[in-house]
Amino acid sequence: MAKDIGIDLGTANTLVYARGKGIVLNEPSVVAMKAGSAVVLAIGTEAKETIGRTPGSITAIRPLKDGVISDYEAAEEMIRHFVRKAVPGRRPRTRMVICVPSGITPVERRAIVHAADRAGARAVHLIEEPMAAAIGAGLPVSEPRGSMVVDIGGGTTEVAVISLGSIVTAQSLRVGGDRLDTAIINYVRKKHGLLIGERTAEHTKIAIGTAWQVPGQEAREEKTFTVRGREKVSGLPQILDLTTPEVRGALDEPLDAIVAAVRATLEACPPELAGDVIEHGIVLTGGGALLPGLDLRIASATGIAVFVADNPLDCVALGSGKCVEDFDSLQKLLAA
Ligand code: ADP
Ligand code: MG
Repeated sequence: MAKDIGIDLGTANTLVYARGKGIVLNEPSVVAMKAGSAVVLAIGTEAKETIGRTPGSITAIRPLKDGVISDYEAAEEMIRHFVRKAVPGRRPRTRMVICVPSGITPVERRAIVHAADRAGARAVHLIEEPMAAAIGAGLPVSEPRGSMVVDIGGGTTEVAVISLGSIVTAQSLRVGGDRLDTAIINYVRKKHGLLIGERTAEHTKIAIGTAWQVPGQEAREEKTFTVRGREKVSGLPQILDLTTPEVRGALDEPLDAIVAAVRATLEACPPELAGDVIEHGIVLTGGGALLPGLDLRIASATGIAVFVADNPLDCVALGSGKCVEDFDSLQKLLAA
């Protein structure tokens, strides 16, 4: 039996879906390299642990960080490693459906196809991320009806309206969860004179971050989170309690950028399809969809109902998985 797989090559996380099995691998898209060399020390979960803690001799690389490939060799190593780990043994007839950020260039597409070939693929097909996200979220992408999906990943946010199996209009924005983390780092530095790392900022966002003050959830507003960092002036370690309202304030600018992209996509949408979106609502996928109140913030800015998909972190992988399971009927949805 062929070991066909679907791969969600995300800027933050890579997931592999194996035909007949479901999601078999879910690891950060991180490669730890020996500084100044091409020597790979660790990939995935193990490599992410080194971020911000690496001695000078190790660099942690995220090959797809901003939705473009920053390091071809690292990207290729990572794809090979994950495919081998997810599908052990020989892979003589493996067909791979790989989801890529829609903003990547033809050269980058070829690089990914090449890496997958070298990892033992018999055939490689690419699918655009918003299409996979919409399939994974259960939207009726093949019907003559406009469906809108907003996939908020680590490095990018992809907004798309899909109808009759194609993307009618889309925007890819280099603002995602990473930018929310950076906004927290900058706020804490400017307001409190404390330097904190990326991992600490991400933990803060996940622990107490919100995008909107949700009526009836006052308890959430009272939450605080203690961060450790280094004081800018003295250089000494210091702790600080952050509150939910101040973190929300820190996230304002990148969140407004995401909302603006949604509005711009709606404005570019043909009227009939926009009518469908108004009727059926907007669906959020990707890790950013888990930020409490993001649905309400987008709903309030657009006047359209917004729904968070079930298991938003898995939608893209599940969408690619559906294409793998049902290749013959869904291959028309794949990118050329
Ligand atoms: P990608 O597809 O680019 O790999 P993902 O869809 O895996 O990205 O989402 C990763 C992003 O989601 C990260 O920025 C992470 O911090 C963020 N994230 C994960 N869980 C949460 C949460 N509970 N609240 C807010 N953001 C989250
Ligand atoms: Mg993604």
